[in-house]
Amino acid sequence: MTDLQAITVDQLKGVGPRLREKLNKYGVFTAQDLLFHLPLRYQDRTKITPIGALQLGVDAVIEGEVQVADIAFGKRRSLICKVQDGTGLVTLRFFHFSGAQKNQLAKGVRIRCYGEPRRGSAGLELYHPEYQLLDEQQAVELDDRLTPVYPSTDGIGQNVWRKLCQQALTLLDKHPVTELISQHELARFPLSDALRYLHQPPSKARLSLMREGLHPAQRRLAFEELLAHNLAMLKTREQTQARGAVPMAESRQLQNAFLKQLGFKLTDAQQRVSDEIAADLILPRPMLRLVQGDVGSGKTVVAGMAALQAIEQGFQVALMAPTEILAEQHYLNFSQWFDSLGIKVGWLVGKLKGKARQKALVEIASGEAQLVVGTHALFQDEVAYQRLGLAIIDEQHRFGVHQRLALTQKTRPEDGSPHQLVMTATPIPRTLAMTAYADLDTSIIDELPPGRTPVNTVVIDNARRAQIIERIAHVCAKGQQVYWVCTLIEESEALQAQAAEAAFEELKTALPQLQIALVHGRQKSQEKADIMTAFKAGETQLLVATTVIEVGVDVPNASLMVIENAERLGLSQLHQLRGRVGRGALESHCVLLYQSPLSRTGKERLRALRESTDGFYIAEKDLMLRGPGEVLGTRQTGLMQFRIADLQRDGDLLEDVKQVAGKVSADDNLSDALIQRWLGDRTDYAVV
Ligand code: ADP
Ligand code: MG
Repeated sequence: MTDLQAITVDQLKGVGPRLREKLNKYGVFTAQDLLFHLPLRYQDRTKITPIGALQLGVDAVIEGEVQVADIAFGKRRSLICKVQDGTGLVTLRFFHFSGAQKNQLAKGVRIRCYGEPRRGSAGLELYHPEYQLLDEQQAVELDDRLTPVYPSTDGIGQNVWRKLCQQALTLLDKHPVTELISQHELARFPLSDALRYLHQPPSKARLSLMREGLHPAQRRLAFEELLAHNLAMLKTREQTQARGAVPMAESRQLQNAFLKQLGFKLTDAQQRVSDEIAADLILPRPMLRLVQGDVGSGKTVVAGMAALQAIEQGFQVALMAPTEILAEQHYLNFSQWFDSLGIKVGWLVGKLKGKARQKALVEIASGEAQLVVGTHALFQDEVAYQRLGLAIIDEQHRFGVHQRLALTQKTRPEDGSPHQLVMTATPIPRTLAMTAYADLDTSIIDELPPGRTPVNTVVIDNARRAQIIERIAHVCAKGQQVYWVCTLIEESEALQAQAAEAAFEELKTALPQLQIALVHGRQKSQEKADIMTAFKAGETQLLVATTVIEVGVDVPNASLMVIENAERLGLSQLHQLRGRVGRGALESHCVLLYQSPLSRTGKERLRALRESTDGFYIAEKDLMLRGPGEVLGTRQTGLMQFRIADLQRDGDLLEDVKQVAGKVSADDNLSDALIQRWLGDRTDYAVV
């Protein structure tokens, strides 16, 4: 029997080389791929809705008689056509139309339309509805199934998807897909039936249930998809662990010397996590550990402890940060900590050029640099390590998949894989952690160092900006320092920099008595570093910045942060930013300035931030309000594009998924078949 996976799309009717190429680009290669290309939503063209019963935003089929059709000259010229059916009157509106069309829609003509009612100047209106003229003699049949609307891309229209999926369904009759899971109660809904149902639901299907993704057919597939993802990650983990790693005995000297000079005691949570790491490192298989800890929980010290264990055994450690500013911060920090221990800290970022770069590369290759701090430059081809034993990755969610993989390829082959320690300050909601990080063991630093004062957060309309500026003067007069953060939705650094420059000028004029500095992503790294150093040293009082200061920057004397257009940022990002103040004993404040009017969700989001300083609570809220892609920053990394599963909606399945995955992973063939079915060759993206 032919497998649906063996029937390539070019064997289907209507697929020539060009369409095949487009489909392939979209990840659709075979008939089976088409079956798993599931509709986003459905249109109900199975019944006629009385015009009087039309609802705003709910698409419907209507039938009626044209009353009048005329050209309206408003802001934009449009053809409007009023249709009546005895229960009510609705207006069709066309902005693009021909003279023939106008003539066709003559008074008295019967018409059937499909469209979404919106509120227009003439009451309910259908903009550019699909329509057909009806012939008195000949009854036109309605659809007997709901019409699928597929996720699509430029150049593949809905009708093409519909025809192709229809062909795949016909093939499914002859070549049933293999049931791969049977352990779970959800699997009682046969896979073939679920697929057929979702591509072409019967007219009586409960559309509201399906819209919410809660139909048993959907849940069944979501379960299988989550399972496949989980298996893919377990497999990656297995493969990494199969490479083995060099065991590193516990540190006898360096860690103690380090702790002695620190000037503070580790918190219980830091100690516990350090112990977990130490226990991983002594094993002959690579550590794969994620350390989660809220902003300011002291992850850096924990990373330092891990680094010392490796260094004491003669290994090199690479510490990778997502931005140069953060890398610099780490570099300064670790140089200060490690110099006195006689440990050489190296430094490598993209902008390091010429002789300085050559020198850095030589230090890394010779092993002179025992800890190397940098950005993604650390894993470029030209960088060779003498003996890399541990890779520490800070603020992991900003890195792409390949970046972490590339770093792990930097060991000597006989050393297997380096141990990996991933640190993130984005508290990851449990549901996300269970999927996105299924390949990592997790440690949580759930305690802040003593002596912190919680940041007091207020939400204020930008109209009261002048008052806030006054407040800055007041705070600085007390010898404390202030951040002013400019945000933009655009990713463009140039625009961000522009906004920051404008605020900088405004504040200089308003506060001539203050030393004000500006830092943004377009500056040279040396310039940025100098500005940050001056701010740290208290030479400048007010720092105007873009979100480049989001992570890691540490100035305990800063007690006020103003964030402009706070409504534009994600909650977790705001929480991170806010974590830059309240780092010392000073009573600290964060002002979230918003541009009114603020939407209801907007209000709710900012309220969450005002009410809580608990990163986990905030992350859960963020997940609820924005979805997982945004929360993990996966837009950039291409991680976790589910076809049907939704982590919030289907989060309750995850415990079961994990259990079943544990059993299924023992069976390589089964596990591979599931991974192939759902992820195809995209498995590497599951590696976080
Ligand atoms: P994050 O988890 O956000 O990376 P850091 O590692 O930057 O936090 O630590 C924040 C600040 O807290 C630093 O100034 C650090 O020196 C300090 N710190 C870390 N651990 C402790 C501790 N146990 N006691 C007191 N201060 C600490
Ligand atoms: Mg940090």
